[in-house]
Amino acid sequence: MHGGIHYKSNKFLTFNEPIKELSGFKIHKFNLYGHIGSPAVPVVKIGDKVKMGQIIAIGQDKISINIYSSVSGKILDINNIYIIIENDFSDEYISLNKLENPNGTEILARIKEAGIIGMGGAGFPTYSKYETDKKIETLIINGAECEDYLTTDDLIMSKYSAEVLQGAILLAKILDIKNVIVGIEKDKKEAIKFMKESAKLFSLKQNIDINPKIIIKPIKSKYPQGAEKMIIQTLTGKEVPFNSLPADIGIIVNNVHTAYSVYRAVFFGEPCIKRVITISGRAVVNKGNYLVRMGSSVADVFCSAGGASYNSKKLDIYKEFAKGRLKACEKLANKMHATEDLKEKKQIEIKLKQEIKDTNREIYKHYVIAVDGCENNLVKILAGGVFMGIQIDEEYCIEARTSAILFLAESEVENHVPTACINCKKCAGVCPVSIQPMQINNYAEIKNFEECKKLNVMSCIECGACSYVCPAKIPLAYNMKMVKKSVKNLAKIKNNFL
Ligand code: SF4
Ligand code: SF4
Repeated sequence: MHGGIHYKSNKFLTFNEPIKELSGFKIHKFNLYGHIGSPAVPVVKIGDKVKMGQIIAIGQDKISINIYSSVSGKILDINNIYIIIENDFSDEYISLNKLENPNGTEILARIKEAGIIGMGGAGFPTYSKYETDKKIETLIINGAECEDYLTTDDLIMSKYSAEVLQGAILLAKILDIKNVIVGIEKDKKEAIKFMKESAKLFSLKQNIDINPKIIIKPIKSKYPQGAEKMIIQTLTGKEVPFNSLPADIGIIVNNVHTAYSVYRAVFFGEPCIKRVITISGRAVVNKGNYLVRMGSSVADVFCSAGGASYNSKKLDIYKEFAKGRLKACEKLANKMHATEDLKEKKQIEIKLKQEIKDTNREIYKHYVIAVDGCENNLVKILAGGVFMGIQIDEEYCIEARTSAILFLAESEVENHVPTACINCKKCAGVCPVSIQPMQINNYAEIKNFEECKKLNVMSCIECGACSYVCPAKIPLAYNMKMVKKSVKNLAKIKNNFL
């Protein structure tokens, strides 16, 4: 890979933590736009009762997906963006049928039916990569996980190596792919060890009747090694030409979590209703990797992961704000302990759990407002990593493509005012697609987007490496993104005049 950067990693905050489950939230919101392609179309109406694992919206085109409820409960609302469900906590579950020894067509149909998308963050429906007439020689399972803070794939490979490999083999079976390469950055020592052991031990008694060659390949730890085109180049030496797809050179790339989800969908009939995410950043207490249901809100996740990382001054502020709510919890708890009637005890317990969650939400809101300036003050929430993640607020809900939620404190967020370019060319040196961000930036400033296009701005993968190294702190990656939009608009305007 050309260019790339080495950064001071924050992965240590979560990489040793076991995967725990976070659930029991009252409201779940399912984003109809949670993938690239057209929005899914609801097949339920307000007031309907649904079960966990029930389809609630159907994908409409070749790059759109089905959406399933991750809880049992009632449809509270449907608007242009979300289906909102109130959890009844009964967890009544209907799965898809389990497949035994499926053929390639059946596997593909299952992936499509189960609503599986690229879980590394791209949101590209997995089935559409396999609906190709190209001859595919190699399947790459992307375990690079080069983004800072993220440790989800690392943990999944360490804990579920055999399952990931079974998922990979199912994927290979769809197009009779002969080679499977799992690329893992060298710093993920446990993951490499377990994946190698599983690959060695792998037996064909696993309801799978093909035998692709599996290679576990440690690769250099360097950002953005995990970008699709980069990992292809690193692992195979092949380059994907501009405006082409990996399939055009006989390669498909899928993420580790995607392979794991394929395994679950085929052998357990589990649609895409849960995923593992990294919760990290210095403004949240219990950093770690959590199995979270789709549609859970960031506020709920934050509170359940221990809430804010606070000092004693903040604690006083919380107590003040949450006094009333805490009293209500205390009252319920006393009532629960006092009653001898088991049914009543259970009912109060459910109420109490909800009250605690609501209280946490309230504390969260007051925390954000009240403790400005404190040491670990929450200043930014990101969905995804620090380089390519998007800024969100506490209303954001977990989607299949959400690999992480980062609660960043002041000390973790750069807040520099950009100065003039000093022409050091560092940005060009680290650019993995070998373009000249500073030159493009200069042309963009004078709105010469034709020239930006000639300088190949469209091949920018928006990795953020250039912004990271720029001593003038120019937000180059953001600027490249904007320039790409302008170039696209330019093309649209031209087409309209033809
Ligand atoms: S120009 Fe684009 S691809 Fe190159 S380093 Fe910057 S963001 Fe990454
Ligand atoms: S890294 Fe920043 S200062 Fe250096 S050439 Fe690029 S834009 Fe200019």
